[in-house]
Amino acid sequence: MTRGTVIKRCSAIPWNAALRQAFSIATGSHASMENVLFRVELASGDVGYGEAAPAPHVTGETQNRTLLNLRGEARKLAGKDCADYLSFLPELHERLSGNHCAAAAAEMAVLGALSSHASVPLYSLFGGARTRIASDMTVVLGSVDEARRDAEGIRLRGIKTFKIKLGGDPDADFLRVLAVHQAAPKGVIYLDANQSYTAESILRLLRRLRRAHVEISVLEQPVPQEDWDGMRKVTRESAVCVLADESVQSQSDAVKVIRLRAAHAVNIKTAKFGLLRGAEMARLCSAAGLKLMIGGMLESAIAMGNSAHLACGLGCFDFVDLDTPLFVRDRITSGPLGPSSDGIYRLDRVKRGLGAAPCAASTRP
Ligand SMILES: [Mg+2]
Repeated sequence: MTRGTVIKRCSAIPWNAALRQAFSIATGSHASMENVLFRVELASGDVGYGEAAPAPHVTGETQNRTLLNLRGEARKLAGKDCADYLSFLPELHERLSGNHCAAAAAEMAVLGALSSHASVPLYSLFGGARTRIASDMTVVLGSVDEARRDAEGIRLRGIKTFKIKLGGDPDADFLRVLAVHQAAPKGVIYLDANQSYTAESILRLLRRLRRAHVEISVLEQPVPQEDWDGMRKVTRESAVCVLADESVQSQSDAVKVIRLRAAHAVNIKTAKFGLLRGAEMARLCSAAGLKLMIGGMLESAIAMGNSAHLACGLGCFDFVDLDTPLFVRDRITSGPLGPSSDGIYRLDRVKRGLGAAPCAASTRP
């Protein structure tokens, strides 16, 4: 008799959604979400979902290529036993080494189906350290007035942490950050430059903000990803916690950050590492004294829910940036998981598996 944990079938479909507003950052802009949904069904009938979020302007991965790759993997996964996931997931990551978000989606679906079959929430596979985390919310690139309006909206939701995207123009960015600070004087401020500054110019901006009594909790990826000297300089000379995101695309990059002291913190994203390697990366960086952010690409509650389970399971994350489901215009997932309007993920409501599934209407071709 076939074990219940054996994969019966898998499928991959485009997972598109309209946004409330364009998600604009220094390296590009998304007018809509264009991801890929991956579904794994076990012999027992248990189902798991994963989501791949290709960001062509960041990693070069495309929705079409991701869809084709995942359809290829769907055929290879049929007949494998989810309970033995380490016997086939490393090879899958190897095959998809140029398309990390696809590998991550397959892994999410496999582990989601397995935890659902075991009748435990997904986070318990990672340790079950906690069941609740609160996300920041992003102030995307735009004018000073838009930054003020966005910040007021975020504050009214009850969200206390504001992640401001910087665009590389020090005067405009200064005024935008000041506008957010004035709209929410008690708010915690994270800055994400997405590689748009030089070390000297970002240090000048930080000094200017300090003189204006604007406190910054984290500065993410100030300089281009390959500018290791610049990362080191900002880390050395700034009183603000400097976080590496685009600079860390692999475990060896994380080791480089540790060795060169090129940041105080690292952004762990499932789209870059998947869940299992993401957990390894978190433990490695944490052991080396680095702080951790759990972040993501432009993702719905399927992928960000997976990240919330990872972060809650491990319990070692200092910064939570899982807000993009709040940018999706319509309700496209059902189930207890997803950030509520105030940015909080309440995983104690999830009894088994991921706790989020696509709404039937949103998966129609
Ligand atoms: Mg970032």
